[in-house]
Amino acid sequence: MLAQRTSLLKFSGTAAAKMAANAAASNGNEIIDLTAGEIWSDLASSVRDGAIAAINRNLNRYTDTIGLIELRRALACKIAAETAQPWTADEIAVTHGAKQALFNAAMVLLDPGDEVLIPTPHWTTFPAQILVAGGTPVFVDTRHSNFVPRVTDLVAALTSKTKAIVVNTPNNPTGTIYDRDTLASIAQLAIDQDLWIIFDECYGTFAHAPHSHHPMVSVAPDARDRTLTVNSFSKSLAVTGWRIGYLAGPKTVITAVRALQSHTTSNPNVIAQHGLLNYLERRDPVFELNLGRQVANARALGLQILSELRSVPQPSAQGGFYFYLDLGELQRRAKADGRKLDADDVANKLLAKAGVATVSGTAFGDPAGLRLSYGIDLELLNKGLRRLTATLNGCS
Ligand code: PLP
Repeated sequence: MLAQRTSLLKFSGTAAAKMAANAAASNGNEIIDLTAGEIWSDLASSVRDGAIAAINRNLNRYTDTIGLIELRRALACKIAAETAQPWTADEIAVTHGAKQALFNAAMVLLDPGDEVLIPTPHWTTFPAQILVAGGTPVFVDTRHSNFVPRVTDLVAALTSKTKAIVVNTPNNPTGTIYDRDTLASIAQLAIDQDLWIIFDECYGTFAHAPHSHHPMVSVAPDARDRTLTVNSFSKSLAVTGWRIGYLAGPKTVITAVRALQSHTTSNPNVIAQHGLLNYLERRDPVFELNLGRQVANARALGLQILSELRSVPQPSAQGGFYFYLDLGELQRRAKADGRKLDADDVANKLLAKAGVATVSGTAFGDPAGLRLSYGIDLELLNKGLRRLTATLNGCS
């Protein structure tokens, strides 16, 4: 008999979509995989050099549980530059990717029954981790407000048990970026209602003009003592497999995270830490420029192809590297013809008929959405989106 908490855990919808794509490909079909939450790219040379030097120095032992002090100091400088405020190493914990930073946050903040507001559509892991930590996710629909939470909707979802709010901008899956006013009003709500803000800015380096990303703490310095900033290098440097992220917040939180992490995973991999430390010390402007261009080119190409979609509005794609399609109109037309067409049906049809793997919005709490990643090779993206457009136009 397994623990009851296992019943809270459903396999991640994004991972399931990837598995379906792999299964279809293993049957010999040419599948273009638009499910990935990562960018196809080489490694930044400063990351590689730092890691190789660490191996050559025989570095093989535990580091401080929450990361090398040199790395935390370098991160403090990075966050200070991003937020225009001073930061110290004891306000930062290095984690195994942003995922562990978020899990740590849920574990140290939540008591059983505490509620956490999550604007929806939402990244699939937020509610799962909150549930495992004993909390209760409370979803706040943003589909009718351009995927940006309205304060009135947040207020309507408050109860005496509300403890925190998740703010994810640039957003996965919707690609929306919250502007300064939105962030300021969420911060004010958090201050008024004594809430924590879990601020996930993993896609912050991919803000597409004219939109720009604003760290919560820079917009609302008065909310700094209640904001936990979560970030990682997974997306910004295309190193999802290296598993280096961080949590920045009040010292009391970081002290609790240190104790928790000392009993769960201990320090993140020492070689990866040195790779990222070398990056922060030397940067890699050419790499960053090329990665930015790659994402911008893919976005431009994708938007051009998707503009041919009938009955599906052009995705906003303000940030990150996802197109998020609203299938509402297609669904209304299907219903009028007596057909059922939920987002899972659309994703299944695209995989079976067009050989294109996508993630159904149901993975993100949205029965009318479809997420397409444009982090892949341009030629494949071109082919995949053309097939997808032809298939979806055939559904209307
Ligand atoms: N936060 C968001 C919004 C994400 O989309 C992801 C990964 O897809 C993560 C956190 C986790 O990132 P990491 O690979 O650094 O654990």
